[in-house]
Amino acid sequence: MGKVKQEKKKKSSNGIVKQGIMFNKNFGQHILKNPMIITSMLEKSGLRPTDVVLEIGPGTGNMTIRLLEQVKKVVACEIDVRLVAELQKRVQGTPAQQKLQILVGDVLKTDLPFFDICVANIPYQISSPLVFKLLLHRPFFRCAVLMFQEEFAKRLVAKPGDKLYCRLSVNTQLLARVDMLMKVGKNNFRPPPKVESAVVRIEPRNPPPPINYTEWDGLTRIVFTRKNKTLGSSFRQTAVLATLEKNYKVHCSLHNKEIQPDFNIKQKIEKILTEVEADQKRARTMDTDDFLVLLHAFNNEGIHFS
Ligand code: SAH
Repeated sequence: MGKVKQEKKKKSSNGIVKQGIMFNKNFGQHILKNPMIITSMLEKSGLRPTDVVLEIGPGTGNMTIRLLEQVKKVVACEIDVRLVAELQKRVQGTPAQQKLQILVGDVLKTDLPFFDICVANIPYQISSPLVFKLLLHRPFFRCAVLMFQEEFAKRLVAKPGDKLYCRLSVNTQLLARVDMLMKVGKNNFRPPPKVESAVVRIEPRNPPPPINYTEWDGLTRIVFTRKNKTLGSSFRQTAVLATLEKNYKVHCSLHNKEIQPDFNIKQKIEKILTEVEADQKRARTMDTDDFLVLLHAFNNEGIHFS
């Protein structure tokens, strides 16, 4: 008796049956049911009739159908084969069928084709890797209009000094202009998610900043691990100094540079930080330009983060 009850409970917490479709929470399936939100997202993405649009997680196709009316081609990537079948059924025998290409599988493991615009109500659990997959995609796309969990959206657009300003903010803003477009309440979805949502517009910086991303990532990792501390203090940590000393020595030997007998990593770093007046700064108040200046100063002195 107890067991039966438990199994029943498990089933209802994993999925909800609506119109014959069992929505799967593991795939973040929350269908956007309010057509006004879809209209608004499409308006804000500046679609042209000649565009190829990428949609991630089309689900039952509420947005896909609308996109197909407005553009040349839609490439939709969907992981759930049941929903792929549903979407195919929806366009079958209509003129839209020729314009729709479905890629079946996990978008994070899929080679994406060329696209001009990306519009999607995405599964929230892949937000972060998806943003960077899109931002590193080449050739460049014009813009992406994406629905995220509100908290994630706020972190994407946070500015120096904001409470939610973090590595995600600087890493994104290094590669793109980001704008918050609108908040979207839970009840616009079926089934309603536990969290509030928001739509963000992402426009890649083209050309991208001419830097080494591994170096950038190494630097921002160090300073954002303790974003409220001064840089002087972050760079006095033994583990950080040990890594930077090791990197310095590797770079010296790669470039046949002699290491001075009185070399002292701590002093060297203090000197660089003081020269660019960064020793008293804190990551939470620094913008992408501040980090670029800092990275150049370090790299010019042979200090590397990778
Ligand atoms: N865009 C639709 C559905 C949103 S729900 C609408 O607004 O109505 C999220 C969709 O993403 C679901 O269809 C889910 O199956 C799909 N999905 C989840 N993980 C995915 C992944 N890794 N790759 C591609 N699609 C995924």
